[in-house]
Amino acid sequence: MDGPASATRKRLQVVLPALLRLAVLAAAAIAVGVAFGATIGLVFAAVAFGLLALLHLFYLSLLAEWLEQPSLATVPEGIGTWSQVFARLYKTRRTTESTERRLQDNEERFRRTISALPEGLVLIDAALQIEWCNPVAERHLGIALKADQGLRLTNLVRDPVFVAYMTSGNFGESLLFRPHANPALALAVDVIEFEPARSIVVTRDVTQTERVDAMRRDFVANVSHELRTPLTVVNGFLETMLDAEPPPDETRRHHLLLMHDQSQRMSRLVDDLLLLSQLEAQDAPSVDEPIDAAQLTAELAAEARALSGGRHTVRVEGTAPRLRGARDELRSAFGNLVSNAVRYTLEGGTIALRWRAVDEGVCFEVEDSGIGIAPEHIPRLTERFYRVDKSRSRETGGTGLGLAIVKHVLLRHQARLDIRSQVGQGSVFSVWLPAARVVLPQDEAAKLPPSEGASIIPAPSGCSAAW
Ligand code: ADP
Repeated sequence: MDGPASATRKRLQVVLPALLRLAVLAAAAIAVGVAFGATIGLVFAAVAFGLLALLHLFYLSLLAEWLEQPSLATVPEGIGTWSQVFARLYKTRRTTESTERRLQDNEERFRRTISALPEGLVLIDAALQIEWCNPVAERHLGIALKADQGLRLTNLVRDPVFVAYMTSGNFGESLLFRPHANPALALAVDVIEFEPARSIVVTRDVTQTERVDAMRRDFVANVSHELRTPLTVVNGFLETMLDAEPPPDETRRHHLLLMHDQSQRMSRLVDDLLLLSQLEAQDAPSVDEPIDAAQLTAELAAEARALSGGRHTVRVEGTAPRLRGARDELRSAFGNLVSNAVRYTLEGGTIALRWRAVDEGVCFEVEDSGIGIAPEHIPRLTERFYRVDKSRSRETGGTGLGLAIVKHVLLRHQARLDIRSQVGQGSVFSVWLPAARVVLPQDEAAKLPPSEGASIIPAPSGCSAAW
C-alpha cells in the first residue's frame, strides 16, 4: 500500500519536471530580454506562457471528455506532465476494469452455483416482491424471473396456505403444501430472513418423501387393522377360559391372566397405531362441531377418579368454554394427558384439570404432583414410543403413543402443547387453543376467570417445551 512518503514522491515526479520547464521558459525569456531588449523579452514570455496555457487547456478538455465515458481503450495520450497523468489514468483504469471483470465473473459463478442447487431460491424484499430467483424456484412455484421480477410473490402463488404462511411472519416451521399450479408436487417451504428488509424463500421438492411417508402410514394402518381381528378372538378365548367352569387351577389362572394382560396391551397398541395413522392422514379435524368443554371436563375428571381408584385427589378449576372442533379427538387428547397424570403420580398426589383464559384464546391444563420429568426428556416426549422410564410406562398400561396422539390432535386444531415439569415435584401439560376454536362470543370467552387453585409447580425456566 502507498504510504505518505511514496505519495509525496509521486507528486514530485509530476510537478518537478513541470516546474523545470517553467524555469527554462523564464530563463529563455530573460535571455531574450537581455539580448534584444526588455520589450521583446516580455513579448516572448507572454507568447511562450500563453502557448503553454493553451496546451494545458487542450489536455484539460481531453481529460473532461474522457471522464464522461471512461474506458481503457480511449485514455488520451499527452506530452510532458500530461503524458504522466494519462499514463496513471490508464493504470488506474486497467486495475478498475480487471477488478470489475473479476467481480462480474464471481457473481456469474455464484449465480450458476445457486442455479445448480436442487432447492428453489427466491430473493424477496420486505413487500414480498421478487428480486431474483433460480430456475428451480421458477419450476416449483410456476413463476418466471424475467416476467415476474418486482411483482409480489403472493400475487403470483395465490394458494391460501402459502399466502397465510408468507404473511404470518412466523417461519419457525416449514410449510408443507401442494401448489395449485402443480398438485402432483409436494413442496416444503422455508423463509430465511437474512437482512431486515430481505428474505430468501427456499422451496424443496418433498414429493418422494411424502410418498414414502404415506406408504409407511398405510402399512402401519393396514397391519394394525389386520391384527385387530385375531387379537379380539384371542382376547375372547382367554376371557372364556378364565371364566370357565370348573375354574382353572392357580398356576393356570396366573398364566391366563398374564396372557390376557399382554393381549389387551397389544389391542391398545393396535388401537393407538390406527388412531395415529388416521390423525396423520389429514391436517384438519375430522368434524368441526360445537363442544361443551364443561361436560367434557366432568367426564375426564370422572375417568381420572375411576383410574385413580381413590389414590389421588382430582379437582377441576376455572370455567370451561364452548369450543369448536372434533369432540372425540379432543377427548382422546385430553384423556391421554389426564391418564398420564394419574399413572405418573404417586398415591396421595393431586391432579388438577384447569381452564384459563389467555390472550390468544383458552388454555386447558393438566397439573399433577407426580414424579416429574427431567428437562432433557421434555423436547422428545411427543415422539412415538419415547418413554422416560419404559418399565413404568408398561406397568401402568402405557403404549408410548399417548403424547404423539395428543400432538397430532392439537396440530389439527391449530393448538399447541406446552410442558413444564420438575423432577419429584410434578408436571403441567398446557394445551393452548386459539380464539378461533372458542365458540362463545369473544367478550364472554375473555371473561373466563383465571385459575383459582394455587399452582403446585412453579414454572421453572429451561424445563419446558412447546410446539
Ligand atoms: P406412555 O404410554 O408411555 O405414557 P406417552 O406418550 O403418553 O406414553 O408419554 C410418553 C412418556 O412421557 C411417558 O412414558 C412418561 O415417561 C412421560 N410422561 C408423560 N406424562 C407424564 C406425567 N404426567 N408425568 C411424568 N411423566 C410423564
